Amino acid sequence: MWSRIQSRARDMTGAAALVWFKRDLRVRDHAPLAEAMHLEGTLGLVVIEPQWLESPECDPRHVGFLLDCVAQLQRDLAARGLTLLVRTGAMPQVLESLRREFSFTHLFSHEETGPGWSYTRDLAVADWCRSQGVQWTELPQTGVVRRLRSRTGWAGRWAQRMNAPEAPAADAFKAAPGLQACAVPTLRELGLPALAAPLPAGGERAAWATLDSFLGGRGRDYRRAMSSPLTAAEGCSRISAHLTFGTISMRCVHQATEARIAATPDRSLAYGLRGFASRLRWHCHFMQKLEDEPAIEWRNVARSVDGLRAGDGVHEGAIDRERLQAWCEGRTGFPMVDACMRQLRATGWLNFRMRAMLVSFAAYHLWLHWREPGLFLARQFLDFEPGIHWSQMQMQSGTTGINTLRIYSPAKQARDQDPQGLYIRRWVPEIGTAAYPRPIVDERTAVAAAKDQLYGLRKTHAAQTEASAIQHKHGSRKSGLPPTATTKRRTRAAPEGQGQLF
Ligand SMILES: Cc1cc2nc3c(=O)[nH]c(=O)nc-3n(C[C@H](O)[C@H](O)[C@H](O)COP(=O)(O)OP(=O)(O)OC[C@H]3O[C@@H](n4cnc5c(N)ncnc54)[C@H](O)[C@@H]3O)c2cc1C
Repeated sequence: MWSRIQSRARDMTGAAALVWFKRDLRVRDHAPLAEAMHLEGTLGLVVIEPQWLESPECDPRHVGFLLDCVAQLQRDLAARGLTLLVRTGAMPQVLESLRREFSFTHLFSHEETGPGWSYTRDLAVADWCRSQGVQWTELPQTGVVRRLRSRTGWAGRWAQRMNAPEAPAADAFKAAPGLQACAVPTLRELGLPALAAPLPAGGERAAWATLDSFLGGRGRDYRRAMSSPLTAAEGCSRISAHLTFGTISMRCVHQATEARIAATPDRSLAYGLRGFASRLRWHCHFMQKLEDEPAIEWRNVARSVDGLRAGDGVHEGAIDRERLQAWCEGRTGFPMVDACMRQLRATGWLNFRMRAMLVSFAAYHLWLHWREPGLFLARQFLDFEPGIHWSQMQMQSGTTGINTLRIYSPAKQARDQDPQGLYIRRWVPEIGTAAYPRPIVDERTAVAAAKDQLYGLRKTHAAQTEASAIQHKHGSRKSGLPPTATTKRRTRAAPEGQGQLF
């Protein structure tokens, strides 16, 4: 593939390219950079878009992390002779004004599976390129397949992409004359507040250091450590924010992991890393759902549950603001829920099981529709990745129509994952005093009512017919085979996270 691209590139005498960096803030394994390398003049571009800053999912933490990544990328590209411009504004307008300074004929970028506003923006960019005779080439960077016809065979395609060679090193450019890189803006210059706590280091070097420390030994206890919030922060890879901002490619993570598994004589490490390796596929599996059905970020996957909970745009009532606020603030009176929420707010990260418990609590105990809690969590997660996030929000809320309802008991999670109460006391120091609130709902009554409603609905003919269609469109396939009656519904509890594949 690369030789074909390069011979095409060499033919393009006089062609000049703009490489548009989005969630791919790296040099290594960067296909658009490799494409642009042989052109007559090349310029890199990062655009800080008002639509992003104003979107309800965006938090200053995300912006701060991005700026850190961009500053490093700018230096790394400069060392290769490429200027990286950072502009603020709507993409079509930025392109329009840039074209007056630099007459580019080609635009290269990675494909993006993002929220609705990014799709609308891409349509506007495509229109602008057409009107200006600029050729826009978008290249895949994950296992997500554009215009996928069927999920059958998807896992094989994922493996094919992930095992393909990295994009050629982009190490020497013919720079576009006349344009100088300017400083990366600060949060303040963007009109955003300073961050309350420091962020993890951004950029490509931090991504590799994080991965290397995990593959080098931290991953040994992965399967055991991932469930408890006491051990997960060290025992999980912590690569998620880097994958979200693209400071490392999924292909590099996959290949480095497979190479380490093959090379290490340490059987415990290999066992841990195999568990990690399988989750990398889930990343793309979930993103594929948003690619295939963009409406899942705001509408129930199973339309048969529409109107069930207030706040879904169909139910006539409004979401219970008092409950929502208590949940967001970590003062529900359920210590494990409050501790997790407070950790998340303070650090921007939480392990999978505790994320799932937070959502299950909002959905079943508090009977809140997932959209507003989901927006709040999106702002808290530094690794916010729309395709994974909205799929998981819906799964943990019981609105996909096909997954086993998984209702987490906060008390059981506390017993299992924090038996001595160390974690809870750390994040909820006022526990046991009059300052700590009483439970905001009666757990037994709330969960029984939630089960009644959802199980009752699932028995209906309409819900069952819809479930088959959903499984066919989005469901994971075992061995790449089409779904059968036995894979249609999962009834057995699966290991950590596995039952989460809808
Ligand atoms: C309600 C909810 C929302 C979530 N939102 C996000 C999100 O916005 N962004 C995000 O990256 N992950 C999300 N996850 C999935 C998961 O919790 C995180 O990927 C994981 O905790 C990140 O930490 P890590 O990199 O140390 O994970 P590790 O356990 O080390 O896993 C390695 C990588 O595998 C992928 N992965 C692991 N578990 C899952 C999973 N269940 N689904 C999909 N991919 C997975 C991720 O890319 C992750 O970085 C969400 C889970 C839930 C329950």
